[in-house]
Amino acid sequence: MTDSFEAKGKRKKLVAELRQKGITDEEVLRAIDTVPRHLFMDPAFLSHAYVDKAFPITSGQTISQPYTVAVQTCLLKVKKWDKILEVGTGSGYQTAVLAEMGAKVYTIERFRELYLKAQGILTSLGYSADFFYGDGYEGKPQYGPFDGILITAAAPEIPDTLIYQLKTGGRLVIPLGSSGTQVMTVMERTGPESFERSEHGNFVFVPMLKGTVNGK
Ligand code: SAH
Repeated sequence: MTDSFEAKGKRKKLVAELRQKGITDEEVLRAIDTVPRHLFMDPAFLSHAYVDKAFPITSGQTISQPYTVAVQTCLLKVKKWDKILEVGTGSGYQTAVLAEMGAKVYTIERFRELYLKAQGILTSLGYSADFFYGDGYEGKPQYGPFDGILITAAAPEIPDTLIYQLKTGGRLVIPLGSSGTQVMTVMERTGPESFERSEHGNFVFVPMLKGTVNGK
């Protein structure tokens, strides 16, 4: 797996663009400056790796837009050693950004093909994260509770099973809505049965669906 001067230059420009769009968290920007997004792209879109857009990957899914990755990562308020559960591994790009920030990441993907591919790329880049093939609606209670839970697919409602896998003080970041655009929503757990909800703008995601797909 290779990085290049050209890719590094393009990443710097991307980071400058994200700053202009309002991203100020230096750790998040550093991680985006470091992770070689081109290695997570479908070969057909390789030359667009540092364009601030989502692109198709295998299994009819998408690699999230860098701006979206930045916003979600900022909202999680990740600190080194935090235990983060990610639902929707996809390309593994967001997983790598979290791992680069020093988080202990547990990530779940419902497409077996994507789960295998993402795991391979992160391993070859030297990132350690725990990969699971399964239905993210169930979470990973045996590894929780988590400092943060990040959903990278559009959910029609907040899954109860997941918010109860947060630590007190932990944050769930989830794009809420079924079709069209979704509202980026944060649920902070403030006590055993109490949560504080906030909303952070509109985004577009592929849907969060139940069950697994064991294709190819
Ligand atoms: N963070 C990823 C985003 C991928 S798109 C990236 O930047 O590449 C969202 C992913 O969520 C898709 O791969 C989709 O298959 C997955 N997904 C949807 N519903 C899921 C569920 N219930 N459990 C696990 N993964 C799910």
